[in-house]
Amino acid sequence: MSSRPDSPASYGELAQEPFYAEGLRFSCTRCSACCRYESGFVFLSKKDVLILASTLQMAYNKVIETYCRWVPGNIREERLSLQETAEYDCIFWKNGCSVYKGRPLQCRTFPFWPSILVSSDAWIRMAASCPGMGRGRLYTKDAIERWVSRQRVEPLIARNI
Ligand code: SF4
Ligand code: SF4
Repeated sequence: MSSRPDSPASYGELAQEPFYAEGLRFSCTRCSACCRYESGFVFLSKKDVLILASTLQMAYNKVIETYCRWVPGNIREERLSLQETAEYDCIFWKNGCSVYKGRPLQCRTFPFWPSILVSSDAWIRMAASCPGMGRGRLYTKDAIERWVSRQRVEPLIARNI
């Protein structure tokens, strides 16, 4: 599992004339490389947990207790993330994403994360491990920035330590 977005607090502003001004191509091949094999975090907002609770027909707190863990965030802060297996697969990966329709925003917005959109180099580096990037559906600059806006308005769950 290799998903690691920046926190909303560190999103910063995107460039006025970004490298993706003419859009970017992306079509997921469902290879599952971003859900498996590598330790990583899938951070969650309250809305993410509510959607998972509805998808799984479980209580909100039970979803947290059963599928989530607290991991280091910013200084003196922990964030809520999905658990992973001993093999570093996402807890929800079972021959594909078992909560696909209710998957967290972090998964739905990939690869349109501020940390990847910061430069063409960052995009190319990430594309080396994602066969869906640079091919298939064309997303316009506006569409890309709408995905970024979604990430900004759904704060991640965190607690002070
Ligand atoms: S194509 Fe990319 S986004 Fe889709 S599953 Fe593979 S690594 Fe993940
Ligand atoms: S929730 Fe689904 S899409 Fe997201 S990392 Fe887990 S298996 Fe992959």
